Amino acid sequence: MAISQNIKDLKARLPAGVTLVAVSKTHPVERIMEAYSAGQRHFGENRVQELLAKQASMPPDVFWHMIGHMQSNKVRAIVPFVHLIHSIDSASLLAKVDKEAARIGRFVDVLLQFHIATEDTKFGLDRTEAEELLGSTAYRSMRHVRIRGVMGMATFTENTVQVRAEFRSLKSIFNHLKENFFSAEGCFDTVSMGMSGDWPIAVEEGSTLVRVGSSIFGSR
Ligand SMILES: *Cc1c(COP(=O)(O)O)cnc(C)c1O
Repeated sequence: MAISQNIKDLKARLPAGVTLVAVSKTHPVERIMEAYSAGQRHFGENRVQELLAKQASMPPDVFWHMIGHMQSNKVRAIVPFVHLIHSIDSASLLAKVDKEAARIGRFVDVLLQFHIATEDTKFGLDRTEAEELLGSTAYRSMRHVRIRGVMGMATFTENTVQVRAEFRSLKSIFNHLKENFFSAEGCFDTVSMGMSGDWPIAVEEGSTLVRVGSSIFGSR
């Protein structure tokens, strides 16, 4: 199936208000440009080097999402242009983004990544760690990051009951944090969950942003 048709089909099925991020990792720029030509503007990559190379060769009006685990020493390179970093999985990484953003006078939007799956290969905070981070004096002194919400990946399984429960737990973490730390801030509004195999369930459970790769570009 053509990439442009895949995008059209997905957009027709997604409720209004749910952002589609096309995950273009491993796919060459020519294929990503097919999606761009079909009107797609939000793209996600999980490796800094690949993100940098693609950002340099794609039009400037693309919104780039960093969705993968990052080393602190890679932060500086993406801070000047990244639209949203989904993968903040430690207080020190958040501090590094704040520092690099302050250095160039930019404000960077980020999500806190939560570990909701049973697999231990996936990165992310748990609720207690997030509360510690948000309650810390270090966080309160950060001026150049804006936490927009949460991100998580469900377990890779056919068991939709489990997947649904994991998405539900992420949404409940979101609600809890919103109530306790962001009640005065309308910009805490993003729940990034759902991939090719599970996005319909994620949307039913309250996702506001889905990250879809293989259903658009084919298998990697
Ligand atoms: C690769 C990836 C996706 C997209 O996965 P598909 O199954 O190809 O849709 C979504 N989120 C993250 C964090 C990824 O690494």
